[in-house]
Amino acid sequence: MILPIYIYGQPVLRKVAEDIPLDYPNLKEFIDDMWETLAASEGIGLAAPQVGKAIRVVVIDLDVLSDDMPEYKDYREVFINPHIVQYDETETDAMEEGCLSLPAIHEKVTRPTRIRVQWTDGQLRPHDEWVDGYLARVMQHEFDHLDGKMFVDRITPLRKQLIKSKLKALLQGRYRCGYKTKVSRR
Ligand SMILES: [Zn+2]
Repeated sequence: MILPIYIYGQPVLRKVAEDIPLDYPNLKEFIDDMWETLAASEGIGLAAPQVGKAIRVVVIDLDVLSDDMPEYKDYREVFINPHIVQYDETETDAMEEGCLSLPAIHEKVTRPTRIRVQWTDGQLRPHDEWVDGYLARVMQHEFDHLDGKMFVDRITPLRKQLIKSKLKALLQGRYRCGYKTKVSRR
C-alpha cells in the first residue's frame, strides 16, 4: 500500500522516534508499505516519521543511483532502530540534498563523511559498521528524521532566510509533487 508522505509542518516530523521491539505488530507489512511508497515517490530513502509513524525504521534504496554509482548496485537496506554512535569529524563535505517531505527544496548540507552506525536489518540481524561516502550522507539525512530533524535545520541562517517563502508555501500546501502527500494546514 502506498502511504501519503507527510510534508514539512507536520508535527510527527519533529518528534524523536522510538526504538521498537523486533516483534512490533505488522512490522513486515509496514516495511513493505515503505518500500512501495519509496518507489512510487522515486526517492532514495524514507524514514517512518515521513509516513506518520514516530518509530525508528528507515528504508534506503541506492540501487536507483547505480548507473552513476556502480558500487551501490542492488543496495537496498532496511534499518530497524538505527543509531549513529560515532562521527569521524576529521573530514566533512558539502552536497546538495533534497527530501520527499520538502518538495522543490534543494540545499547544500555539510556533513561528516564517515560515521559508525548500529542497526538491525530486515532479516533481524544486528550490525555495527563504519560507513562512508554517499551512503553515509543518505544515512545521516534519514536518521536525522528519527531525531525530529530535517536537512533545512543544517543549512546556514542566510540560506534559511532565502528559502523562507518556499517553506511557508509548504506549510500552506502550496506546492506540486508527483506523489501522495499529507499537509498540516491550508
Ligand atoms: Zn528526508
